[in-house]
Amino acid sequence: MISPAIEQLMREHEDTMMIPAENVANVIKEHPLEHALLLLSQAGYSTIPVLDREDHFVGLLSLNDIVKRMLGINGIDTSNLEELTVADVMKTDVPVMRLDAELEDVLHLLVDAAFLPVLDKDGVFRGIMTRREILKAVNYTFHTFERKNQETKLIFHANSSR
Ligand code: AMP
Repeated sequence: MISPAIEQLMREHEDTMMIPAENVANVIKEHPLEHALLLLSQAGYSTIPVLDREDHFVGLLSLNDIVKRMLGINGIDTSNLEELTVADVMKTDVPVMRLDAELEDVLHLLVDAAFLPVLDKDGVFRGIMTRREILKAVNYTFHTFERKNQETKLIFHANSSR
């Protein structure tokens, strides 16, 4: 269990820990794979969330999965990209988190994932929590915890010597 004092400090970073949906590059599952490949390379990310037309999260699409699909016996074959959609290639069995998830669970999941899609109770995509943002919060917490500890000791010392 994470100590409540540490959790409280981490929560001070809550506003920046999640990248909101409107700032996250995504693809719609019905989109042609060719379009998704262009979007992925333009966005500069290797993996992005896949949504349905009602903004529900349905999976993740990675550059790696597209390239694997293009690899034929004679090397790379881009012709089948026109017939395939994002839904044919995306991964659906991926870890996700709820808006009210326990910090401890989030930290465990981020050991193996670079980011977690954040969903509301109806499965609507609300944003992502990245390992990078969590690490920033952890860094802040470590430094602030020590400082606050020192301040508490000083106040205690001053009060007890009066
Ligand atoms: P970072 O921690 O910033 O390196 O991001 C880790 C991963 O999260 C990236 O490789 C992307 O797969 C995903 N990601 C981060 N920011 C965005 C974004 N704005 N839009 C889409 N995916 C993102």
